Amino acid sequence: MSARIELITTGTELLLGFTLNTHLNYIAQKLATIGLRLDRHTTVGDDPAELRAAIAEALARCRVLLATGGLGPTADDCTREVVAELLGRPLARDETIADAIRERFRRRGIAMPESVLRQALVPAGAQALPNPHGTAPGLAIEHENKLIVLLPGPPRELKPMFEQYVLPVLEQNFAPADRPVCRVFKVVGLAESVVEERIGAAPGVELGFCARMGEVEVRILGKNLAEAERKIRAALGPHIFGEGDDRLEEVVVKQLAAAGKTVAVAESCTGGLIAHRLTNVSGASRVFLAGYVTYSNESKVELLGVRPETLARHGAVSEEVCRAMAEACRRRSGADFALATTGIAGPTGGTPEKPVGLVYIGLATPTRTEVQRHLLLFDRETFKFFASQYALDALRRELLKSHRPA
Ligand code: AMP
Ligand code: MG
Repeated sequence: MSARIELITTGTELLLGFTLNTHLNYIAQKLATIGLRLDRHTTVGDDPAELRAAIAEALARCRVLLATGGLGPTADDCTREVVAELLGRPLARDETIADAIRERFRRRGIAMPESVLRQALVPAGAQALPNPHGTAPGLAIEHENKLIVLLPGPPRELKPMFEQYVLPVLEQNFAPADRPVCRVFKVVGLAESVVEERIGAAPGVELGFCARMGEVEVRILGKNLAEAERKIRAALGPHIFGEGDDRLEEVVVKQLAAAGKTVAVAESCTGGLIAHRLTNVSGASRVFLAGYVTYSNESKVELLGVRPETLARHGAVSEEVCRAMAEACRRRSGADFALATTGIAGPTGGTPEKPVGLVYIGLATPTRTEVQRHLLLFDRETFKFFASQYALDALRRELLKSHRPA
């Protein structure tokens, strides 16, 4: 039997419904990757008495207790103090942590409120887990054959800390040797039902599907995944763009970098979303040259040089204008590839010939230009995301054909 693991998430904002409790989802998923699962999860508000009771109850049951939130500098943050008191371990300031906090404020050029140094208090015998993304370190405490780990509330601080320090310790000490493994394949350009139909049965593994925005995840869980993986890859081929946490824009940036090629974008209905997604990826500057957000007809003429006659004859949302945008973008930017989008995001602005949801997606390459037409029947933001997804995927598939990795 594996060690009992419990999670306590803290924060009144979680109980009020102002903040979605993403820690539960994130931590449970990460534990699954090493064959562990949560036995119980509790959420408490920022109330010392409630928190104390929840921790005492959980410690009476579990081997590993993970608690998130309440390590910050404000008056409602009380996790560190409650745990120290409950375990009878006095708090003392760790000067290395205090210096790191002071240094963080100095580098940002802002005055440090004295209250911030509360975050340098460490219960006796606890190990501080460094937090490169914030001021509050995490804390790991071995206590009466139990492991207690306190983690910061902000997800962007918690996640790297969890992956770097907590997961390896849990894997080494608690992961079952003969455990099932989990893999997730990320699929683009096929509906969930089509993905399922193509794969059919996968004997020997637990097969699961999850439709996300603009992509489908295929999850397999089992002790030996090789046969199932072969079957899934054969069924879905190039529709699989990655695994696990891979994002489409990351894959595209990597492909471009590996091929030594560049891209530029001319966006109308996606309003800069493709540029945003590409520039979210570290290293984008090597492959991304320019983004033109040409929303009006005038800007398509002035910034890209689309001919007014083309706009007048076919309308801004047309295959012809999309083609002209992609080709002009490629020429003006000097990039190897250019993507262009033009469409009707809605909910207003549709006509019988050009309904809401219509979008053209153009890809200009050194040798040709292709334009896809889609009807994306979603709300505005989902429409924009799908359009950006199809555009990025058009480039991914082009690079897959022309620049196969060696
Ligand atoms: P704290 O350290 O508890 O003050 O939390 C700081 C920030 O992290 C706040 O913006 C919280 O809303 C956020 N946060 C705390 N716990 C969670 C959680 N379980 N899921 C998502 N966000 C959280
Ligand atoms: Mg809080």
